[in-house]
Amino acid sequence: MIGLSQLITILLYLAVIFLFRFDPTNFFAMVLLPFGALIFGCLGSLGALPGAKIAQYPVDARLRNIMIGTSMTAFVVYLLIVAAVINWADSSHPGVITSLVQLQTQTEFAFSKGTHEIGNLGEVGAWGFLLLALKFAGVAGGSWAYYSSLRLIPYCSSCRVFNRTREKGTLYFHTFDAWVAEMKKVPTEPWRRAAHMLSLPRQKALSIPGKNYVLVRLYRHECPRCHEQHMREQVQVHNGSQLVAPKELASAYSWLPSQAQSKKVTPEPQGGVGGFGRKVI
Ligand SMILES: [Zn+2]
Repeated sequence: MIGLSQLITILLYLAVIFLFRFDPTNFFAMVLLPFGALIFGCLGSLGALPGAKIAQYPVDARLRNIMIGTSMTAFVVYLLIVAAVINWADSSHPGVITSLVQLQTQTEFAFSKGTHEIGNLGEVGAWGFLLLALKFAGVAGGSWAYYSSLRLIPYCSSCRVFNRTREKGTLYFHTFDAWVAEMKKVPTEPWRRAAHMLSLPRQKALSIPGKNYVLVRLYRHECPRCHEQHMREQVQVHNGSQLVAPKELASAYSWLPSQAQSKKVTPEPQGGVGGFGRKVI
């Protein structure tokens, strides 16, 4: 899958060159940020998610190395294709490597500073090699950035599958103290705590938000195989001017459904003496 996304990225970038006569990897934002190359690395790595799902491949350092490695290889292939086309179009046929060197030193690089274009540098000479090194770093960086975003998806390492999001919700508390007061009521057992948090009334937003109101985002994830449950509580506090998310206030906990069931309170027998709960209609 990752090979496929790399191939599509190469074709996409070649199409841009063909249509606009400009190599998108020569685009730098904020002067030295190789933006075009970053996107190249990121796009090329997109296949890693479906690939990891199908092959049940864990999101770890090995996957990161595969993602960065294939992106770099794809970038080399891309450079060689462009150089080969230039070599073929040039009537003197200087050779692929010579064309590649010419491309890197004589091509126009577009620079932009923030939102303001600062134009083309024109021929950059030997500086082109530094820019080429930056482009390689950009491709690796783009790939790494996508890997980091994959790390955020909850993953069951024992079943080697990505967890599914089962429930989401947002809670609002008018003040920080109101949140602290609610937290004092929360049971300590993970599954009980999750049930408590998810049962709290939710609202879209506070009509009159307090000065230091608290926003709690709840996420319940479940492994589709072993059904292990994960709960994440992300706490954001308004400090007067903006919402901040102190890490020490966030919590995450897990439990197995069997743990929750075995400790479930057996309901009181209803409708009479004798225990077997005759139904009273
Ligand atoms: Zn699992």
